[in-house]
This record gives sequence, C-alpha cells and structure tokens, in this order.
Amino acid sequence: MRRIPFPKKKVLRARALKMLAILEQAYPNAVTALHYRNPFELLVAVILSAQSTDARVNLTTPELFKKYPTPEKLAAARERDVQRIIKSCGFFRMKSKNIINAAHKIVEEHGGKVPGEREALEALPGVGRKTANVVFSVAFEGAAIAVDTHVFRVAHRMGLTLGKTPRDVENDLEKIVPREQWRHAHHWLILHGRAICKAPVPRCGICPINKLCPTPPIIAKLTTERARSKA
Ligand code: SF4
Repeated sequence: MRRIPFPKKKVLRARALKMLAILEQAYPNAVTALHYRNPFELLVAVILSAQSTDARVNLTTPELFKKYPTPEKLAAARERDVQRIIKSCGFFRMKSKNIINAAHKIVEEHGGKVPGEREALEALPGVGRKTANVVFSVAFEGAAIAVDTHVFRVAHRMGLTLGKTPRDVENDLEKIVPREQWRHAHHWLILHGRAICKAPVPRCGICPINKLCPTPPIIAKLTTERARSKA
C-alpha cells in the first residue's frame, strides 16, 4: 500500500483523551527499552540510538560501559577505541565524537554528573531536543514529551496534531496530555507504533482505538478508490 496520508483535521480533545486512556491501559508498564543503570548510561544509550534500534544499542553498551563506566573515563577515551565498540550502531564517527565531547562537558561543567535540567542537557554535544527530553523525563522524572519517529507518526494518525516538525507535535501533545502524564505518554505512543500502528501500514484491525481514530476511514476510502480504479 502506498503511504497513507495523515488526517487533515485534529480530533476534539475529549476524543483524544479517550484514545490516550485506552493506550495507557494497553501499555501500563511502558518504559524505555534501552538498558541503563544511571543517567550517564541512559544519555550515552540515547545518543547511540539515533538512526539505530534499541536492541542494537543494548548489544553494544555492555562493552562500552565496562570500559568507560564514568564520564571521566569516557572523556579520556581515544576516539578510535570508542568507534570500534559502537561501530554497529551506525554514524559511529560522529557518535564517538559526540559521546566523548558530552562526557568532557559533563566533567568540566557539571562536576562529572549528568545535569538534570533540560536546557543544560540540550547544551551537551550530540544532544538535541528529543534526546534531552528522553533523559530529562526518564532519568530525572521531569515533565517532557520526547517526539521520535513513532510518536510523530502515531500522533498524526490519531489526529492529535497537524504539526510539521517534532517540536510542533510536542507542543500539540502538551496541550492535550495532562502534565503529570507527559513523561509516560511518549512511551504509550512508541510502544503502540512498534506493535500496532506500524510504518508504513498500521494494523488498524487489531487496534484498541480503531473506533475513535480518524485514520481507518481514510484507509477504507483509499482501498475503495483503488478497487474502483482497477475495476
Ligand atoms: S486505528 Fe490504525 S492508524 Fe489509528 S492508532 Fe490504531 S493502528 Fe494506528
């Protein structure tokens, strides 16, 4: 099936909240799939996960964290040694540079501790808004919604946003989701995106919110049009 267009209108807030409540029930223990033991390990794992998979990162980080268990050790690492370990995560030259430079900054400006404020996280090398939001919300239980590719796609299909950028989507979700649930909401959408609302074709037939979601009627219309054009 060709790419399914996103709904052109947002759903009403009450309907959005109903859908989110169902997803909350469907994914009650939603947490990050990345393995980590402290904010430093989470930060490094999230940087490595860009353009990679959590499973791949989880296979990579045990060796990395064994050799470089602290920001001090990683800051002193040789780039080529780090590159060798993280090579399978992709973009390994850039990622090696970023995690070593981030470790430097953590040591020099934050006393060797990953900062717990979003602005300070975003100022670290290799850390964009999404990575900062993940670390802020997961490691520090801060109120933030991290918008990755799954959150972006699922939020559009559910009619929660018409946003063109991840930041637009984040802003729209913040208006719908109660603040105390921000740090959980992106996990519901990520897990739903991985399990059911997949790219490129969602599995609407088994989706618990298919009666409320605006995308199944769009798919039904596309299917009918295609059948007619073939007839
Ligand atoms: S009904 Fe379909 S498009 Fe909507 S959230 Fe479920 S799987 Fe995704």
